[in-house]
Amino acid sequence: MTSGKGKAPAGKSKARPAAAKTKGRTGGRATPSRARAAKTTAKNPFLQRWTTPFEIPPFDRIRTEHFKPAFDRAFAENLDEIAAIAGNKAAPTFANTIDALELSGEMLDKVAAVFYNLSSTDSTPQIQAIEREIAPRFAKHGMAIYQNRALFRRVDALMRAKAKLGISQEQERVLERYHRGFVKSGAALDAKAKKRLAAIAQEGATLGTRFSQNLLADEQDFLLMLESEADLAGLPDSLRAAAAQTATEHGHPGKHAITLSRSSVEPFLKFSGRRDLREKAFKAWIKRGANGGKTDNRRLVADILALRAERAHLLGFKSPADSTLEYSMAKTPANVKKLLGEVWGPARARALEEREALQDAVLAEGGNFKLAAWDWRYYAEKVRKTRFDVDEAEVKPYLQLDNVIDAAFDVATKLFGLSFAERTDVPVYHPEVRVFEVTRGGRHVGLFLGDYFARPSKRSGAWMSGWRSQRRLGGKDVRPIVVNVMNFAKGAAGEPTLLSMDDAHTLFHEFGHALHGLLSDVTYPTVSGTSVERDFVELPSQLYEHWLERPEVLSKFGRHYQTGKPIPQSLLDRLKAARNFNQGFATVEYLAAAIVDIDLHVLEEPDGLDVDKFEKKTLKKIDMPEEIVMRHRIPHFQHIMGGYAAGYYSYMWSEVMDADAFRAFEEAGGPFDREMARRLYDYIYSAGGCRDPADAYIAFRGRLPTTDALLEKRGLKRAAAA
Ligand SMILES: [Zn+2]
Repeated sequence: MTSGKGKAPAGKSKARPAAAKTKGRTGGRATPSRARAAKTTAKNPFLQRWTTPFEIPPFDRIRTEHFKPAFDRAFAENLDEIAAIAGNKAAPTFANTIDALELSGEMLDKVAAVFYNLSSTDSTPQIQAIEREIAPRFAKHGMAIYQNRALFRRVDALMRAKAKLGISQEQERVLERYHRGFVKSGAALDAKAKKRLAAIAQEGATLGTRFSQNLLADEQDFLLMLESEADLAGLPDSLRAAAAQTATEHGHPGKHAITLSRSSVEPFLKFSGRRDLREKAFKAWIKRGANGGKTDNRRLVADILALRAERAHLLGFKSPADSTLEYSMAKTPANVKKLLGEVWGPARARALEEREALQDAVLAEGGNFKLAAWDWRYYAEKVRKTRFDVDEAEVKPYLQLDNVIDAAFDVATKLFGLSFAERTDVPVYHPEVRVFEVTRGGRHVGLFLGDYFARPSKRSGAWMSGWRSQRRLGGKDVRPIVVNVMNFAKGAAGEPTLLSMDDAHTLFHEFGHALHGLLSDVTYPTVSGTSVERDFVELPSQLYEHWLERPEVLSKFGRHYQTGKPIPQSLLDRLKAARNFNQGFATVEYLAAAIVDIDLHVLEEPDGLDVDKFEKKTLKKIDMPEEIVMRHRIPHFQHIMGGYAAGYYSYMWSEVMDADAFRAFEEAGGPFDREMARRLYDYIYSAGGCRDPADAYIAFRGRLPTTDALLEKRGLKRAAAA
């Protein structure tokens, strides 16, 4: 799972609760001058009805200059709608408040979806300029809605009368989401507390920015110069070239250098034969943010935690973790800790076995020292090479992009009865984009767009997004339009594009998200498709990856692009074994960080916390092997000081679930078992956020997930039994 994955469609939205996260100043509204608006109406596609096939945005007619007037109109329209709902003289009902909110902001949705998809896939300096201008307006817009006292009173009244409203489970979830959006924005607080909440948000943002800037400064200040050939011992050509490039960028042309960015220092630790240099680089790397002086983050962390605790208390929670987890599948810090704890034991046991193997490797080459943290990656790479001599590049000729796309489609056909037909009569935003109409039993399901190749105007990573989410509210069956965006290197002219196994997994992963959007079958946009809890959203995507490496799929679609021969099973087996190697280390490194994250955010009074002491104490409690350092130490734990507080666990949470969910198929009739596929469709892929995620999982699986299948998948099972 990478950070770019799983971006929800049309994420930048308006009145709906998803926008509750937006922070910013409250303020007035922008209304375009009527004369100007009238003049642009004639040509601006956003101000006209779309007559394109499937009402897809008329990309061929949309110009950059259309966005600003369209945003102006859309913000104004939405605020008028909100004012009408809030000012309604009639007593609040579900229909005149929640339905009305759900139906509002249609134009803002459309403009934002086109704009933000374009800004990440085919950006220009002009689009970036609009982006900078629009971001604070979205923040302001969110505040104008979620701090609207009259509107909150209506939602709150409905929430209190929930049991007597006679509403469906789905409606109840929608109501709860709105209510939560208001409460977390401080709408329920008195003026003084509200003011303090705003101040906390502002102060927190400032401290968060300083945290990242300090970290960047520490990473940039350090340069390990590799002066001589001896300093380059062990480094492969690609790494030498990168180190030469780094040196040039830092004003030392003709030399080699390593920085503290992960992409520079981690390969160096893996390959450098110079133990003294590894030690130097490693020690600097793990001290980022804790070097004393102006860039030290330790005090900042304590201040940020204190602000978060204060915010949680203001909102009525015991701790920041309790506040974050209230609406998640995990629900409580205790549940998170229980899950992490279950994996910790077997992972640690495996890591200790790995440590022994690495120590043996040290001795075997005549080294007379005890393995240290800066040795781990180096000896792990050596052992991996001797035990599983496998080159990822061997797989590529078997994985042609077009075939992997077909494979992803074929799995969806077998599981859910979907058909895919390419359409060339639909406008696209870039000539490389492919469009497929998705149908089920002859009925239109939605449009799937594939945008597969890297280009300079696209941001890096891979993600799913969309222009329209499925909904039925208002008597109209609106079908989704979703996209998968990748950054594959395009094959040379006349040659097919070949993927690595990782690339193929990414394609299946994002297609799993796409199916979650496409198969959605709900009434309300707020709970449509991928609009589910943060620790649940990766289930449909990660689960889908399991089908890729099934023999039923690979033997058919994984064929050599020259010989047509299927990929050899022995090659797959070797790859799998190589992948399982060093999983003890990887799991321990990750889990330690996840445990520290949760422990930090359950603190009720973190004021003046001694970050070093806290980290040491927590690691001692779990008996952290001293040769492994947590993946992100607190002074440079960007994830949790950014927006992912008490959320680092969710990578493991999702992995536990996807392993357990696929096991359900294996326990039934195999990977395409019809009854399991039906349940998967009913309770997961089509259900959006209509249910509590734990209930949805139980409906699918018959019980909550256990860690058993994950331990097996990561190859930790044997250690568990030992
Ligand atoms: Zn994802």
